[in-house]
Amino acid sequence: MIKGVKGAPDILPEESGKWQALEAVARDVLDRYGYGEIRTPAFEHTELFVRGIGEGTDIVEKEMYTFEDRGGESLTLRPEATASLMRAYMEHNLGAKNSLVKFYLIGPMFRHERPQSGRFRQFHQIDAEAVGSPGPAVDAEVVALLHHLLDAWGLQGISLHLNSIGDPNCRPAYRQAFVDYAEAHRSGLCPDCHVRLTKNPLRILDCKVQACQQIVAGAPTIAAYLCAPCRDHFATVRRLLDGLKIGHTVNERLVRGLDYYTRTTFEFLNPALGSQNAVAGGGRYDGLVEEIGGPPTPAIGFAIGEERILASLAAGQVRQEAPSYTGVYVATAGAEAFPAAFDLVQTLRRYGLRAAVDLEGRSLKGQLRQANKDRCRYSVILGSDELARGEATLKDMVSGEQRAVPLGEVVDRLTRLPEREFV
Ligand SMILES: [Zn+2]
Ligand SMILES: [Zn+2]
Repeated sequence: MIKGVKGAPDILPEESGKWQALEAVARDVLDRYGYGEIRTPAFEHTELFVRGIGEGTDIVEKEMYTFEDRGGESLTLRPEATASLMRAYMEHNLGAKNSLVKFYLIGPMFRHERPQSGRFRQFHQIDAEAVGSPGPAVDAEVVALLHHLLDAWGLQGISLHLNSIGDPNCRPAYRQAFVDYAEAHRSGLCPDCHVRLTKNPLRILDCKVQACQQIVAGAPTIAAYLCAPCRDHFATVRRLLDGLKIGHTVNERLVRGLDYYTRTTFEFLNPALGSQNAVAGGGRYDGLVEEIGGPPTPAIGFAIGEERILASLAAGQVRQEAPSYTGVYVATAGAEAFPAAFDLVQTLRRYGLRAAVDLEGRSLKGQLRQANKDRCRYSVILGSDELARGEATLKDMVSGEQRAVPLGEVVDRLTRLPEREFV
Protein backbone atom coordinates (compact mmCIF):
# COMPACT_ATOMS: atom_id res chain seq x y z
CA MET A 1 0.00 0.00 0.00
CA ILE A 2 1.28 3.46 -0.87
CA LYS A 3 1.14 5.76 2.14
CA GLY A 4 0.97 9.54 2.31
CA VAL A 5 4.16 11.60 2.65
CA LYS A 6 5.45 11.98 6.22
CA GLY A 7 4.70 15.40 7.66
CA ALA A 8 1.90 16.00 5.16
CA PRO A 9 -1.18 14.72 6.99
CA ASP A 10 -4.62 14.14 5.52
CA ILE A 11 -7.47 16.19 6.92
CA LEU A 12 -10.33 13.73 7.18
CA PRO A 13 -14.04 14.54 6.79
CA GLU A 14 -14.60 14.32 10.57
CA GLU A 15 -11.86 16.93 11.15
CA SER A 16 -12.50 19.26 8.23
CA GLY A 17 -15.46 20.89 9.99
CA LYS A 18 -13.01 22.44 12.48
CA TRP A 19 -10.93 23.83 9.63
CA GLN A 20 -13.97 25.23 7.88
CA ALA A 21 -15.16 26.89 11.09
CA LEU A 22 -11.70 28.34 11.75
CA GLU A 23 -11.47 29.75 8.25
CA ALA A 24 -15.06 31.04 8.24
CA VAL A 25 -14.33 33.10 11.37
CA ALA A 26 -11.10 34.36 9.77
CA ARG A 27 -12.86 35.42 6.56
CA ASP A 28 -15.56 37.21 8.53
CA VAL A 29 -13.14 39.13 10.75
CA LEU A 30 -10.73 39.95 7.89
CA ASP A 31 -13.66 41.26 5.84
CA ARG A 32 -14.66 43.56 8.69
CA TYR A 33 -11.19 45.12 8.58
CA GLY A 34 -11.36 45.62 4.82
CA TYR A 35 -9.17 42.72 3.71
CA GLY A 36 -9.95 41.02 0.40
CA GLU A 37 -8.98 37.46 -0.41
CA ILE A 38 -6.24 36.75 -2.93
CA ARG A 39 -5.33 33.27 -4.20
CA THR A 40 -1.90 32.85 -5.72
CA PRO A 41 -0.42 29.63 -7.17
CA ALA A 42 1.21 27.07 -4.89
CA PHE A 43 4.46 27.42 -6.84
CA GLU A 44 6.55 30.31 -8.09
CA HIS A 45 9.89 30.89 -9.77
CA THR A 46 12.57 29.82 -7.28
CA GLU A 47 14.28 33.19 -7.56
CA LEU A 48 11.28 34.93 -5.98
CA PHE A 49 11.76 33.04 -2.71
CA VAL A 50 15.56 33.19 -2.79
CA ARG A 51 15.36 36.97 -3.02
CA GLY A 52 12.13 37.48 -1.07
CA ILE A 53 12.96 35.25 1.89
CA GLY A 54 16.70 35.67 1.66
CA GLU A 55 19.81 33.63 1.06
CA GLY A 56 21.30 32.43 4.31
CA THR A 57 17.90 31.68 5.85
CA ASP A 58 17.07 28.13 6.90
CA ILE A 59 14.05 28.18 4.61
CA VAL A 60 16.03 28.94 1.47
CA GLU A 61 19.10 26.90 2.37
CA LYS A 62 17.50 23.74 3.70
CA GLU A 63 13.73 23.64 3.49
CA MET A 64 12.43 24.54 0.05
CA TYR A 65 10.77 22.05 -2.29
CA THR A 66 12.59 23.12 -5.42
CA PHE A 67 12.37 21.27 -8.70
CA GLU A 68 13.11 21.71 -12.35
CA ASP A 69 9.97 21.42 -14.45
CA ARG A 70 9.82 19.79 -17.87
CA GLY A 71 10.71 23.09 -19.50
CA GLY A 72 13.92 23.29 -17.45
CA GLU A 73 12.69 26.12 -15.22
CA SER A 74 13.48 26.08 -11.52
CA LEU A 75 10.23 26.27 -9.57
CA THR A 76 9.55 26.09 -5.83
CA LEU A 77 6.47 25.19 -3.81
CA ARG A 78 5.73 28.27 -1.70
CA PRO A 79 7.30 27.95 1.76
CA GLU A 80 5.44 31.10 2.93
CA ALA A 81 3.01 33.57 1.43
CA THR A 82 4.43 37.08 1.67
CA ALA A 83 6.81 36.94 -1.30
CA SER A 84 4.03 35.58 -3.55
CA LEU A 85 1.62 38.26 -2.37
CA MET A 86 4.10 41.06 -3.01
CA ARG A 87 4.87 39.59 -6.43
CA ALA A 88 1.14 39.66 -7.24
CA TYR A 89 0.78 43.17 -5.80
CA MET A 90 3.43 44.46 -8.21
CA GLU A 91 2.45 42.36 -11.21
CA HIS A 92 -1.17 43.53 -11.10
CA ASN A 93 -0.31 47.05 -9.98
CA LEU A 94 -2.73 46.75 -7.07
CA GLY A 95 -1.43 49.95 -5.53
CA ALA A 96 -2.80 52.02 -8.45
CA LYS A 97 -6.40 51.93 -7.17
CA ASN A 98 -5.78 52.33 -3.46
CA SER A 99 -2.87 53.81 -1.59
CA LEU A 100 -3.38 51.25 1.18
CA VAL A 101 -4.13 47.74 -0.08
CA LYS A 102 -5.24 45.06 2.39
CA PHE A 103 -5.45 41.44 1.34
CA TYR A 104 -5.19 37.94 2.71
CA LEU A 105 -4.44 34.41 1.60
CA ILE A 106 -5.48 31.11 3.15
CA GLY A 107 -3.74 27.99 1.95
CA PRO A 108 -1.04 25.34 2.25
CA MET A 109 2.69 26.09 2.47
CA PHE A 110 5.51 23.59 1.92
CA ARG A 111 8.78 23.13 3.75
CA HIS A 112 11.08 20.14 3.89
CA GLU A 113 11.43 20.05 7.66
CA ARG A 114 12.24 17.20 9.92
CA PRO A 115 8.80 15.98 10.95
CA GLN A 116 8.32 16.58 14.67
CA SER A 117 5.61 17.78 16.97
CA GLY A 118 4.04 20.95 15.62
CA ARG A 119 6.02 20.93 12.37
CA PHE A 120 4.68 19.78 9.04
CA ARG A 121 5.97 19.60 5.49
CA GLN A 122 2.62 20.75 4.20
CA PHE A 123 1.03 23.13 6.64
CA HIS A 124 -1.59 25.84 6.41
CA GLN A 125 -1.41 29.54 6.97
CA ILE A 126 -3.70 32.50 7.09
CA ASP A 127 -1.66 35.38 5.81
CA ALA A 128 -2.72 39.02 5.86
CA GLU A 129 -0.81 41.99 4.47
CA ALA A 130 -1.43 45.76 4.47
CA VAL A 131 0.62 47.39 1.74
CA GLY A 132 1.27 51.05 0.96
CA SER A 133 1.47 52.96 4.23
CA PRO A 134 4.49 53.44 6.50
CA GLY A 135 2.40 54.88 9.37
CA PRO A 136 2.19 53.40 12.87
CA ALA A 137 -1.64 53.36 12.77
CA VAL A 138 -1.45 50.53 10.20
CA ASP A 139 0.87 48.56 12.51
CA ALA A 140 -1.52 49.02 15.43
CA GLU A 141 -4.54 47.99 13.34
CA VAL A 142 -2.76 44.88 12.02
CA VAL A 143 -1.89 43.78 15.56
CA ALA A 144 -5.43 44.60 16.73
CA LEU A 145 -6.86 42.55 13.87
CA LEU A 146 -4.76 39.55 14.83
CA HIS A 147 -5.73 40.01 18.47
CA HIS A 148 -9.40 40.17 17.46
CA LEU A 149 -9.06 36.98 15.39
CA LEU A 150 -7.44 34.96 18.17
CA ASP A 151 -10.17 36.19 20.50
CA ALA A 152 -12.92 35.30 18.00
CA TRP A 153 -11.53 31.76 17.85
CA GLY A 154 -11.77 31.57 21.62
CA LEU A 155 -8.04 31.25 22.28
CA GLN A 156 -7.08 32.04 25.83
CA GLY A 157 -3.82 32.56 27.66
CA ILE A 158 -2.15 34.03 24.57
CA SER A 159 0.47 36.71 25.11
CA LEU A 160 1.62 39.39 22.69
CA HIS A 161 5.31 40.17 22.30
CA LEU A 162 6.25 43.34 20.48
CA ASN A 163 9.49 44.95 19.39
CA SER A 164 10.96 47.48 17.01
CA ILE A 165 13.99 46.42 15.02
CA GLY A 166 14.81 49.82 13.61
CA ASP A 167 15.37 50.71 9.97
CA PRO A 168 18.26 51.11 7.50
CA ASN A 169 19.12 54.35 9.25
CA CYS A 170 19.74 52.93 12.72
CA ARG A 171 19.99 49.15 12.38
CA PRO A 172 23.54 48.95 10.93
CA ALA A 173 25.00 50.36 14.15
CA TYR A 174 23.09 47.83 16.19
CA ARG A 175 24.09 45.03 13.88
CA GLN A 176 27.75 46.03 14.23
CA ALA A 177 27.49 46.09 18.02
CA PHE A 178 25.86 42.66 17.95
CA VAL A 179 28.52 41.25 15.60
CA ASP A 180 31.29 42.61 17.85
CA TYR A 181 29.66 40.94 20.83
CA ALA A 182 29.09 37.64 19.00
CA GLU A 183 32.67 37.60 17.68
CA ALA A 184 33.89 37.97 21.24
CA HIS A 185 31.82 34.89 22.20
CA ARG A 186 32.45 32.94 19.00
CA SER A 187 33.91 29.87 20.72
CA GLY A 188 30.68 29.31 22.68
CA LEU A 189 28.41 29.39 19.62
CA CYS A 190 27.09 26.31 17.83
CA PRO A 191 28.40 25.42 14.32
CA ASP A 192 25.27 26.83 12.65
CA CYS A 193 25.79 30.13 14.41
CA HIS A 194 29.39 30.28 13.16
CA VAL A 195 27.94 30.28 9.66
CA ARG A 196 25.27 32.81 10.65
CA LEU A 197 27.92 35.09 12.08
CA THR A 198 29.35 35.67 8.62
CA LYS A 199 26.19 35.32 6.54
CA ASN A 200 23.35 36.67 8.64
CA PRO A 201 24.44 37.45 12.21
CA LEU A 202 21.10 38.57 13.65
CA ARG A 203 19.73 35.08 13.00
CA ILE A 204 21.84 34.01 15.98
CA LEU A 205 19.12 35.62 18.10
CA ASP A 206 16.70 32.92 16.91
CA CYS A 207 19.04 29.97 17.62
CA LYS A 208 17.37 27.30 19.73
CA VAL A 209 20.66 25.82 21.03
CA GLN A 210 20.89 26.50 24.75
CA ALA A 211 24.53 27.61 24.75
CA CYS A 212 23.72 30.16 22.04
CA GLN A 213 20.66 31.38 23.91
CA GLN A 214 22.80 31.99 27.00
CA ILE A 215 25.23 34.06 24.96
CA VAL A 216 22.38 35.94 23.32
CA ALA A 217 20.95 36.80 26.75
CA GLY A 218 23.94 39.05 27.40
CA ALA A 219 24.03 40.64 23.94
CA PRO A 220 23.35 44.33 23.30
CA THR A 221 19.69 45.03 22.52
CA ILE A 222 18.20 47.18 19.78
CA ALA A 223 16.35 49.70 21.99
CA ALA A 224 19.42 51.79 22.72
CA TYR A 225 20.20 52.06 19.00
CA LEU A 226 16.81 53.15 17.62
CA CYS A 227 16.85 56.53 15.85
CA ALA A 228 14.29 59.18 16.84
CA PRO A 229 11.78 58.42 14.02
CA CYS A 230 11.90 54.70 14.85
CA ARG A 231 11.43 55.43 18.56
CA ASP A 232 8.43 57.68 17.80
CA HIS A 233 6.91 55.09 15.50
CA PHE A 234 7.21 52.38 18.14
CA ALA A 235 5.86 54.63 20.89
CA THR A 236 2.80 55.47 18.76
CA VAL A 237 2.10 51.81 17.99
CA ARG A 238 2.28 50.99 21.71
CA ARG A 239 0.10 53.97 22.69
CA LEU A 240 -2.58 52.99 20.16
CA LEU A 241 -2.55 49.39 21.46
CA ASP A 242 -2.75 50.64 25.05
CA GLY A 243 -5.78 52.70 23.98
CA LEU A 244 -7.41 49.48 22.75
CA LYS A 245 -6.45 47.75 26.02
CA ILE A 246 -4.36 45.22 24.12
CA GLY A 247 -1.74 44.17 26.63
CA HIS A 248 1.76 43.49 25.34
CA THR A 249 5.30 42.85 26.44
CA VAL A 250 8.27 44.47 24.75
CA ASN A 251 10.60 41.62 23.83
CA GLU A 252 13.94 42.91 22.60
CA ARG A 253 14.94 39.40 21.50
CA LEU A 254 12.18 39.47 18.91
CA VAL A 255 14.45 40.36 16.01
CA ARG A 256 14.05 39.21 12.45
CA GLY A 257 17.32 38.44 10.78
CA LEU A 258 16.60 39.84 7.36
CA ASP A 259 17.46 43.32 6.19
CA TYR A 260 14.10 44.00 4.57
CA TYR A 261 12.31 43.84 7.90
CA THR A 262 11.87 47.23 9.51
CA ARG A 263 10.51 48.59 12.76
CA THR A 264 7.53 46.72 14.24
CA THR A 265 7.73 42.97 14.83
CA PHE A 266 5.24 40.97 16.87
CA GLU A 267 4.40 37.46 17.95
CA PHE A 268 1.46 35.89 19.75
CA LEU A 269 2.57 33.01 21.95
CA ASN A 270 0.67 30.18 23.54
CA PRO A 271 2.83 28.88 26.40
CA ALA A 272 0.69 25.70 26.53
CA LEU A 273 2.11 24.54 23.19
CA GLY A 274 5.64 23.90 24.42
CA SER A 275 8.63 24.61 22.20
CA GLN A 276 6.63 25.44 19.04
CA ASN A 277 4.57 28.02 20.86
CA ALA A 278 4.22 30.91 18.40
CA VAL A 279 0.68 30.74 17.02
CA ALA A 280 1.01 33.84 14.87
CA GLY A 281 3.53 36.51 14.12
CA GLY A 282 4.47 39.22 11.73
CA GLY A 283 6.07 42.54 11.19
CA ARG A 284 6.79 45.44 8.95
CA TYR A 285 8.92 44.76 5.90
CA ASP A 286 9.33 48.07 4.10
CA GLY A 287 12.33 46.77 2.14
CA LEU A 288 10.89 43.55 0.68
CA VAL A 289 9.26 44.86 -2.49
CA GLU A 290 12.51 46.54 -3.53
CA GLU A 291 14.35 43.30 -2.78
CA ILE A 292 12.24 41.51 -5.39
CA GLY A 293 12.59 44.25 -8.00
CA GLY A 294 9.79 46.71 -7.23
CA PRO A 295 9.66 50.35 -6.12
CA PRO A 296 10.04 51.27 -2.43
CA THR A 297 6.76 50.05 -0.86
CA PRO A 298 6.03 50.07 2.87
CA ALA A 299 4.12 47.01 4.06
CA ILE A 300 3.26 45.03 7.17
CA GLY A 301 1.62 41.67 7.65
CA PHE A 302 1.28 38.50 9.66
CA ALA A 303 1.00 34.76 9.24
CA ILE A 304 -1.07 32.44 11.40
CA GLY A 305 -0.32 28.73 11.58
CA GLU A 306 -3.70 27.02 11.32
CA GLU A 307 -2.36 23.74 12.76
CA ARG A 308 -1.06 25.61 15.82
CA ILE A 309 -4.41 27.36 16.31
CA LEU A 310 -6.26 24.04 16.11
CA ALA A 311 -3.74 22.46 18.49
CA SER A 312 -4.33 25.35 20.91
CA LEU A 313 -8.08 24.83 20.70
CA ALA A 314 -7.70 21.07 21.12
CA ALA A 315 -5.62 21.66 24.25
CA GLY A 316 -8.96 22.17 25.98
CA GLN A 317 -8.84 25.92 26.17
CA VAL A 318 -12.14 26.36 24.45
CA ARG A 319 -15.58 25.04 25.27
CA GLN A 320 -16.91 22.37 22.98
CA GLU A 321 -20.46 22.78 21.79
CA ALA A 322 -22.72 19.74 21.82
CA PRO A 323 -23.23 18.45 18.29
CA SER A 324 -26.69 19.40 17.11
CA TYR A 325 -29.31 17.54 15.10
CA THR A 326 -29.98 19.06 11.69
CA GLY A 327 -31.48 18.07 8.40
CA VAL A 328 -33.73 15.34 7.14
CA TYR A 329 -33.32 11.65 6.43
CA VAL A 330 -35.70 10.27 3.83
CA ALA A 331 -36.22 6.59 4.58
CA THR A 332 -38.05 4.08 2.44
CA ALA A 333 -39.99 0.94 3.32
CA GLY A 334 -39.71 -1.17 0.20
CA ALA A 335 -37.66 -0.65 -2.95
CA GLU A 336 -40.61 0.65 -4.97
CA ALA A 337 -40.69 3.81 -2.82
CA PHE A 338 -37.08 4.68 -3.70
CA PRO A 339 -37.69 6.85 -6.83
CA ALA A 340 -40.10 9.07 -4.84
CA ALA A 341 -37.57 9.30 -1.97
CA PHE A 342 -34.72 10.07 -4.36
CA ASP A 343 -36.78 12.91 -5.86
CA LEU A 344 -37.83 14.26 -2.44
CA VAL A 345 -34.22 14.40 -1.22
CA GLN A 346 -33.16 16.41 -4.25
CA THR A 347 -36.04 18.83 -3.72
CA LEU A 348 -35.18 19.31 -0.03
CA ARG A 349 -31.53 19.99 -0.92
CA ARG A 350 -32.61 22.60 -3.47
CA TYR A 351 -34.64 24.24 -0.71
CA GLY A 352 -31.47 24.50 1.34
CA LEU A 353 -31.85 21.58 3.74
CA ARG A 354 -29.23 18.97 4.54
CA ALA A 355 -30.96 15.78 3.33
CA ALA A 356 -29.93 12.15 2.97
CA VAL A 357 -31.37 8.99 1.46
CA ASP A 358 -30.16 5.41 1.60
CA LEU A 359 -28.31 4.44 -1.58
CA GLU A 360 -27.42 0.91 -0.45
CA GLY A 361 -30.79 -0.82 -0.26
CA ARG A 362 -30.80 -1.20 3.53
CA SER A 363 -33.78 -2.14 5.68
CA LEU A 364 -35.97 0.57 7.21
CA LYS A 365 -34.44 -0.18 10.59
CA GLY A 366 -30.94 0.17 9.15
CA GLN A 367 -31.91 3.45 7.51
CA LEU A 368 -33.27 4.94 10.74
CA ARG A 369 -30.13 3.84 12.56
CA GLN A 370 -28.14 5.74 9.93
CA ALA A 371 -30.41 8.78 10.40
CA ASN A 372 -29.44 8.80 14.08
CA LYS A 373 -25.77 8.34 13.27
CA ASP A 374 -25.96 11.28 10.88
CA ARG A 375 -27.70 13.29 13.62
CA CYS A 376 -30.68 14.09 11.39
CA ARG A 377 -33.38 16.16 13.07
CA TYR A 378 -36.27 14.58 11.16
CA SER A 379 -36.98 11.52 9.12
CA VAL A 380 -39.55 11.20 6.39
CA ILE A 381 -40.66 7.59 5.92
CA LEU A 382 -42.07 6.62 2.54
CA GLY A 383 -43.73 3.18 2.12
CA SER A 384 -45.73 1.83 -0.78
CA ASP A 385 -48.97 1.84 1.28
CA GLU A 386 -48.44 5.43 2.34
CA LEU A 387 -47.56 6.49 -1.18
CA ALA A 388 -50.75 4.88 -2.42
CA ARG A 389 -52.68 6.97 0.13
CA GLY A 390 -50.71 10.08 -0.88
CA GLU A 391 -49.09 10.28 2.56
CA ALA A 392 -45.72 10.18 4.25
CA THR A 393 -44.71 9.68 7.87
CA LEU A 394 -42.80 12.52 9.46
CA LYS A 395 -40.72 11.48 12.45
CA ASP A 396 -39.01 13.71 14.99
CA MET A 397 -35.69 11.97 15.61
CA VAL A 398 -35.15 13.68 18.95
CA SER A 399 -38.55 13.12 20.60
CA GLY A 400 -39.47 10.03 18.61
CA GLU A 401 -42.91 11.52 17.84
CA GLN A 402 -44.34 10.71 14.45
CA ARG A 403 -47.45 11.52 12.37
CA ALA A 404 -48.86 11.12 8.87
CA VAL A 405 -48.61 14.13 6.57
CA PRO A 406 -50.08 14.62 3.06
CA LEU A 407 -47.25 13.99 0.60
CA GLY A 408 -47.78 17.35 -1.09
CA GLU A 409 -47.12 19.17 2.20
CA VAL A 410 -43.90 17.42 3.23
CA VAL A 411 -41.50 19.86 1.60
CA ASP A 412 -43.45 22.86 2.77
CA ARG A 413 -43.56 21.61 6.37
CA LEU A 414 -39.92 20.64 6.53
CA THR A 415 -38.67 23.90 5.09
CA ARG A 416 -40.81 25.89 7.52
CA LEU A 417 -40.24 23.78 10.62
CA PRO A 418 -38.11 25.36 13.27
CA GLU A 419 -35.20 23.06 14.11
CA ARG A 420 -36.49 22.36 17.62
CA GLU A 421 -40.20 22.06 17.15
CA PHE A 422 -42.40 19.44 15.63
CA VAL A 423 -46.13 19.42 14.66
ZN1 LIG B 1 23.48 28.56 17.66
ZN1 LIG C 1 15.65 54.04 12.79
